[in-house]
Amino acid sequence: MLKIDMHTHIIPEHLPRWADKFGYGDFIHLEHHKPGAARMMKGNEFFREIKANCWDPELRIEEYARHGTQVQVVCTIPVMFSYWAQPQDGLDVSRFLNDHIAQLVHDYPKNYIGLGTLPMQDTDLAIQELERCKEIGLVGVQIGSNINDKNLSEPEFFPIFEAMQELDMALFVHPWNMMGFHSMRKYWLPWLVGMPAETSRAICSMIFGGVFERLPRLRANFAHAGGSFLPTIGRIEHGFRCRPDLVAIDNPVPPSTYLGRFWVDCITHDIRMLRYVLETAGAHRVTLGSDYPFPLGDLTIGAFIEESDLPQETKQAIFADNTLEWLNLRKEDFLP
Ligand SMILES: [Zn+2]
Repeated sequence: MLKIDMHTHIIPEHLPRWADKFGYGDFIHLEHHKPGAARMMKGNEFFREIKANCWDPELRIEEYARHGTQVQVVCTIPVMFSYWAQPQDGLDVSRFLNDHIAQLVHDYPKNYIGLGTLPMQDTDLAIQELERCKEIGLVGVQIGSNINDKNLSEPEFFPIFEAMQELDMALFVHPWNMMGFHSMRKYWLPWLVGMPAETSRAICSMIFGGVFERLPRLRANFAHAGGSFLPTIGRIEHGFRCRPDLVAIDNPVPPSTYLGRFWVDCITHDIRMLRYVLETAGAHRVTLGSDYPFPLGDLTIGAFIEESDLPQETKQAIFADNTLEWLNLRKEDFLP
C-alpha cells in the first residue's frame, strides 16, 4: 500500500550564520558537536538537539522503509519561520530553506514532496516567494498558526491566501509561537496545551474571518488533527449562535458548515480520537502525518491505524489518497 507521510520536518545540514550576516537577531544556527547530532542554537541559547535524520535524506528514506512508508512531504521546522526578522532578511532565510527542499525533491522525486516557507511578515514578499516556490517545484507552503501574534484573519494575510488559491498551492498550517508560552513553561505545557489551542486559533480565525468563505478552492490542512478545534466544535458552534454579536461579525456562516472543507492530519496517538476526527472532519479529509523526526510525533508512522479495524478503504484514503487530493498530485507519480 502506498503511504505518504504529509507532516514531517527537515532542515539543511549546514545553515548560514544569519545573525552575523544581518547583524542582529536570534536566528537559528547549528553546532555539529558530535557525529550524527547537532545542537540547534537560538542566538546563544540552546533550543534542542537534533539527530542526523533531521537532515540526511537517505537515512530518512531508510528509517521510513522500516515503517512501510515510501513518501515524505517535507517542510521546515517552525522555529525557522523567522517572521520577526526584517522582511528582506526573512525572504533571504525563506529562499535558502526553500532552495534546499527543492533540490531534495529534484534528487528524490519518488520519496520527497516539498512545502516551502514564506516571509509572512511582508505581504508582497510572501507572494513573491510563493510564486518562486511554485517555479522551483514545491507544491505548497507551511505557515505558522499566528504571524508575530497576529491572527490569520488579519486583512494583510488575505492576498497571500488568495495567491495560494490562484497558483494552486496547498497550505499547511502548523502551531508555533504558542500562546501562554511564558506563563506555563513547566511540564512542557506549551507543547501539550498551547499547540492544540494554537491550531484551533488558526482554524477559527480563518473561518470567522471569512477566508474559507471567500476562497472556496483554497486547500488547507491543519496539523495535529486540527488541535483542539474538532474536540471543541460544539462549543464553538454554540458560541457562534448565542453571541453572533461577538462571533459572526465578519462571516455570517456557521462554523460547522466548514467541516469537510479543510484537511487535518491524523496525529492523535489515540484510535478513539481518530474515529471522532474521521467522523467530524470527514473520512476524505484526514491525512497520514507523523511529525517525524521529533519525539512528540507518531514515529511508527500510523501503525495504530494499520492495526485498527478501520475499513481498508479508509486506511488507503488516510495513507495516500487524501494527501494526493490535498496536494493535487497523481498517485502514478509515486508508485514504484
Ligand atoms: Zn510538526
